[in-house]
Amino acid sequence: MAAPAADAVLFQAPAGWMAAAAEKLRAAGIEIADCQLPIADCGPESEIGNRKSEIPSLPLKRLFFPETEVILEFNDGRSKDVALCVPEPPAGERVVLGCRPCDAAAIAALDQVFAWDYDDVRYRQHRERTTIVAFACTEPHGHCFCTSVGGSPHGEAGSDVLAFPTEDRLKAGLRTGGALLKSLTVKGARLIERLHDVVRPAPHGARPPEPPLVKPRFDPDKIKPWLDAHFEDPLWTEATLACLGCGACSYLCPTCHCFDIVDEAVWNRGERRRNWDCCSFSLFTLHASGHNPRPTQAARYRQRVMHKFKYFPERFGRLACVGCGRCVRTCGAGQSLLSVLAAIEARGNGDPQCVIRNP
Ligand code: SF4
Ligand code: SF4
Repeated sequence: MAAPAADAVLFQAPAGWMAAAAEKLRAAGIEIADCQLPIADCGPESEIGNRKSEIPSLPLKRLFFPETEVILEFNDGRSKDVALCVPEPPAGERVVLGCRPCDAAAIAALDQVFAWDYDDVRYRQHRERTTIVAFACTEPHGHCFCTSVGGSPHGEAGSDVLAFPTEDRLKAGLRTGGALLKSLTVKGARLIERLHDVVRPAPHGARPPEPPLVKPRFDPDKIKPWLDAHFEDPLWTEATLACLGCGACSYLCPTCHCFDIVDEAVWNRGERRRNWDCCSFSLFTLHASGHNPRPTQAARYRQRVMHKFKYFPERFGRLACVGCGRCVRTCGAGQSLLSVLAAIEARGNGDPQCVIRNP
């Protein structure tokens, strides 16, 4: 079959397309990143997952900003000089075959961070070699709130290709079947071209299905004015009474990007590693003097909310939250960012006594 026209954006793929695409890409030496959705190894039964529980527990960011990564190796050899070696850049092309639009949107936010005042070479190398195929959501989870933070279950930010289940499949409630693929970027167009014997241009008039409803939970425009005026406020203590400072909310957040750099050495050789860190940890801002500018969990949680809903928008013009709901789902202490934001909105609307109601 002839390759699709370069300016075409909508394509249709038959049932079984994922397995066929994965096989073709692997044969061309392209790495298929761990499926971000719980789809067993892109096998023949694999298709776009529809169930609301199907958001991966781990965020997509770890493919670009890994939990731990060697950024330098050192070896003092037999002389007095220390030999430094920068690890080889990650090589070869890679395709993420399946993530949710909120996780891809988070990558668009991280792109701004890692290219802001410093060109983060490792992040850029991971990013440049990767093409992201996101799967539009059809049945959002009860804790999803992408539409309250400028996103959508059909959001395109950060993705190279967005895949939708076909309308007839949706109506029949089938978990497997064909898909419509929307090419969004040059990388996306190149991927579709590679798959030209798996997908073909969609027929005239083909349209993606309507996005499912994700109920608005708060108005972000009401949050920031309150944050601007309430750096000191009893709400921060109230919001963190149950918080254990475990950091799970930050580690699993697709936009959180704090890291620490440590040297780990054995005898005469070692590695410099970049490891995820977290503003919820009491050690995060502890000075060598013993002074801690964020001495309480309230001060640390305030930083987390301020960063996402005040500082990040001021610097980058977008929120640092994509509404994936992972922090709400994951917190073992039952702390809910949604409840805190709802209380902030109510207080901003003139109800200063509104209490935080965690689920
Ligand atoms: S997951 Fe919950 S308990 Fe752990 S740091 Fe976050 S808010 Fe606190
Ligand atoms: S703050 Fe919570 S809801 Fe927002 S992107 Fe992070 S994990 Fe998802």
